[in-house]
Amino acid sequence: MNSFGRPIDYLRISVTDRCNERCLYCRPHQYAGWQGTADGLTDTDLLRIARVAAELGFRKFRLTGGEPLLRPNLTGVVREMTRLAGVQCLGISTNGLKLPGLAAPLRAAGARTVNISLDALTPSVYRRITGGPVEPVLEGIRAALDARFEFVKLNTVLMRGVNEEELWPLIRFSSEHGIPLRLIELMPLTSRDVLTPANFLSVGEVIRWLRQREELVPQPDLRLGHGPAKYYRLAKSGAVVGFIGAMTNLHFCDTCNKMRLTADGRLRPCLGHHDELDLRDALAETESDEPLRRLFELAITNKPWEHAFREGFNPCRPMTAIGG
Ligand code: SAM
Repeated sequence: MNSFGRPIDYLRISVTDRCNERCLYCRPHQYAGWQGTADGLTDTDLLRIARVAAELGFRKFRLTGGEPLLRPNLTGVVREMTRLAGVQCLGISTNGLKLPGLAAPLRAAGARTVNISLDALTPSVYRRITGGPVEPVLEGIRAALDARFEFVKLNTVLMRGVNEEELWPLIRFSSEHGIPLRLIELMPLTSRDVLTPANFLSVGEVIRWLRQREELVPQPDLRLGHGPAKYYRLAKSGAVVGFIGAMTNLHFCDTCNKMRLTADGRLRPCLGHHDELDLRDALAETESDEPLRRLFELAITNKPWEHAFREGFNPCRPMTAIGG
């Protein structure tokens, strides 16, 4: 199905709003809006929604959260979801903490790709950002590589005054392990204090800074997944770095193919708009999928052309519930 001529075929599903980290920009300790609603949808709900989405033309699915690996029976959900007709690719976004035990079972269940958040390598900086230790995440990255996912990618959120010094070590780490690194601009999610003029660091500034050290060769045809990253190869080190300029790239939404399912069962057509359609009544209707189908169609029809982050957006739900 299309919105403004864009095919909408990618569903990101927040399978839980629980998380075992407390990232500064996502779910800070002092955040009061946290309700702890936990896993709002049953496995049956998730699979039914994915089946209806696949019938409507969705082909790519990503399980996220919160921290998706905290959900009991995630492996079973992955196994069933990847068997649904029309599901071409299922990926997982994780902080990596539980990958040492779960990477191999998730891969065996049919997950094809894994994105791992890694905002710093220096243990004290990592702890300052997330509240926890980096070593188990590094172990999780090794486990994901051993499990032979089709792609393993690292995600780093850019924060001035917090992790600029980490960027070069992260680039070196990713090239040593042959893993693409994606640098993501901070977005105003969860609460207003998350993004301030003082902590925002644009991808443009990082590109200029990297160019002083190495030639950056654009890779316009490189598609590593289904998102909006623009990739470059660093000429000397061979590192592949993707830039996700959600705030500064004025064409960021031009190719948006996504819809989100929140942990409490709402369809959210755009991360940067508050509108959501509640699927719970439609899920209670067990005789027919028609109400669910209609809500999907409505969400796609109502998907805005672009996010409103640059227009004084006032977030009112935690990112962990919406799903990153
Ligand atoms: N727990 C998983 C993880 O760490 O990847 C999945 C959920 S997390 C919300 C998904 C992604 O959203 C992470 O890469 C995280 O860094 C990113 N994210 C969360 N809040 C953000 C913000 N305010 N701006 C930019 N990215 C954000």
